[in-house]
Amino acid sequence: MTNALEITNLRKSYGDVQALDGVSLTVPEGSFFGLLGPNGAGKTTFISILVGLVRKSGGEALVFGHDVETDYRAARDAIGLAPQEFNVDRFFPIHEVLEHKAGYHGIPAAEARVRAADALKRVGIYDKRNTRFDWLSGGMKRRFMIARALVTEPELLILDEPSAGVDVQLRRDLWDLVTELNEQGTTILLTTHYIEEAERLCDEVAILDSGRVVAVASPEALKGRGADHITIHLHN
Ligand code: ATP
Repeated sequence: MTNALEITNLRKSYGDVQALDGVSLTVPEGSFFGLLGPNGAGKTTFISILVGLVRKSGGEALVFGHDVETDYRAARDAIGLAPQEFNVDRFFPIHEVLEHKAGYHGIPAAEARVRAADALKRVGIYDKRNTRFDWLSGGMKRRFMIARALVTEPELLILDEPSAGVDVQLRRDLWDLVTELNEQGTTILLTTHYIEEAERLCDEVAILDSGRVVAVASPEALKGRGADHITIHLHN
């Protein structure tokens, strides 16, 4: 079976800061994999290397068998990233934003329109297709960011801290949505600070602390092993 990610001894330093200090992990295709860790653990750096925003200092990262540096295009095309921060074109209706993104990825216009509509339907905001991003509610903005990641039909969806700053109801809705996407066949890599979120969603979790993987296990097993001192609890 193919693995979505095969990471071997991945390292990244920013000057004296060792953001990733020899990370090795495997994410099987079809899984819902959690990357847990406190602030500064290296989660964003890890994702940034996968999508080609940051160059690794050493080691190897394969996305569906494609090296993130020597086979960048194929690796990048396999990934849809829903980032933590929103940076969306605010002047166009959201369906056009998605069509532009599809076009940028070489998808012809007619197909791009279909992809945009499908992505908006999958996340449940198709009825808002003519609205601009700024006019969406907070929850809809999150959903839109997931639609934006889905428009290229990636095999691996990366969700970078989807629950950060989100209220309880919204969080539950997002959890239902991403569970459904995984059940439909998309492999998911989710980063979070929260053990409860990983427990609810993930088949397997890696705990990252100061740039190192300190445990890989099912979320239940991690709770039992006292991973709580590294991770943070949800308070509502
Ligand atoms: P958070 O949960 O707060 O987003 P994180 O787990 O994503 O944290 P990273 O953002 O990857 O952690 O940061 C890992 C380490 O690398 C931290 O010590 C951070 O200060 C450092 N770091 C990240 N980006 C840079 C940069 N561009 N220049 C220098 N140091 C950086």
